[in-house]
Amino acid sequence: AGILTASALILVILGLAFGFLIRTLLRQKTLEEMKSDFTNNITHELKTPIAVAYAANDALLNFGTGTDPAKRERYLHICQEQLRRLSGLVEQILGMSMERRKTFRLHVEAFPPEEVIAPLIEQHKLKADKPVGITLRIEPEGLAVCADRTHFGNIVSNLIDNAIKYSPGEARVEIKCRTENGWFILSVRDQGIGIPHDKQRHVFDKFYRVPTGNLHDVKGYGLGLYYVKTMTEKHGGTVEVKSEPGRGSEFTIKLRMKN
Ligand code: ADP
Repeated sequence: AGILTASALILVILGLAFGFLIRTLLRQKTLEEMKSDFTNNITHELKTPIAVAYAANDALLNFGTGTDPAKRERYLHICQEQLRRLSGLVEQILGMSMERRKTFRLHVEAFPPEEVIAPLIEQHKLKADKPVGITLRIEPEGLAVCADRTHFGNIVSNLIDNAIKYSPGEARVEIKCRTENGWFILSVRDQGIGIPHDKQRHVFDKFYRVPTGNLHDVKGYGLGLYYVKTMTEKHGGTVEVKSEPGRGSEFTIKLRMKN
């Protein structure tokens, strides 16, 4: 009986070890696959604006567009727009690789949220190419948020940017800061196209964009909300979305009042 128990024990241990090995191998494969997806996507994302800017520049240099000021202007605008896309993408990539570094540190401090949000509202209004109305309400007055200023700013900026981008025509955006059970809560609400219910849980995934066909011809990389989620979680907070297709979306960030 002793030998039988010992063999059974050895079999159980071997089984467990084998299971662990298989799980580890499978996990590594998924990580490898994710890395390769990431590289493929990034390469594609970088290639497109470079190719378009190159072609526009080529046209400027080679086809005598200099004689037609309207054409010249159009090609220059294309170059400018593609460079903007590229620099936006590079910024997002840098943000993500920074977040992965072991030395990554948040510089958390308490500050009035309007100090960061008010200038952002002005910037977004200035750069928008359509009418934009953004309101900011903070309750109670004098409320402070504990966060890293830069990353908090980037989080809010991404949410405002999306609220404007995904609102056809005039964009109306409401930003609110309040507290609840020891949490600081920020919400950004728009009256835009909304997000289909079955797609809402994917919007925070890296490179995910809701497949809407021609419904919204909006530029983007599917990285903004990934950044928002990663950074909010680095602060020990959470982010969620509520959205009604055709009516609008609301993104809510919860951060601890004290860190
Ligand atoms: P993108 O660069 O594509 O905007 P994000 O990561 O910021 O990337 O958002 C992912 C996707 O979620 C977007 O492509 C869009 O389909 C959807 N989305 C994000 N914010 C909104 C919003 N305010 N209204 C409607 N859809 C949104």
